Amino acid sequence: MRKRSLTPEERNAYRAEWRRRDRAAHPEKYAAAKKRHYATHRADVLARSKEYQESHRDRIIERKRVRYASWDPEERRNYTIMRLYGISTTTYDAMYTLQNGRCLICEEAHDQLDIDHCHKAGHVRGLLCGKCNRGIGFMRDDPRIATRAAAYLSNRKLAK
Ligand SMILES: [Zn+2]
Repeated sequence: MRKRSLTPEERNAYRAEWRRRDRAAHPEKYAAAKKRHYATHRADVLARSKEYQESHRDRIIERKRVRYASWDPEERRNYTIMRLYGISTTTYDAMYTLQNGRCLICEEAHDQLDIDHCHKAGHVRGLLCGKCNRGIGFMRDDPRIATRAAAYLSNRKLAK
């Protein structure tokens, strides 16, 4: 008995189904192929990705906004400080406890402290209150300027 040959649509559906199962059964095979493709077509892949992102900008932003809004506040906080400073909330909480909830400069206690990081190297230096964190920023993160500011304040106090 001769089988009826498949229509092009049926053939495509059959192949898609076969590929779906093969992919599920051998994820490493597809990951390796993807890696090989990326290695030889890096510029193309990046260009196409950029093109996609630009042409779907609104949709991507909306999707991110919806996903972000569905997170619980703790999850959002974790994501934000990891993205901005590269530390987890666990690390933040440990630092906060270690500092007894006090700013490392003025020593005032606060419910929440800013994460101070080096703008050049990117690493986290410590937790500061908002005023001190902004203060050192206004002093261009420069110890020389901060020292001169301290001397200035001391001298002016004496002169009074
Ligand atoms: Zn402070």
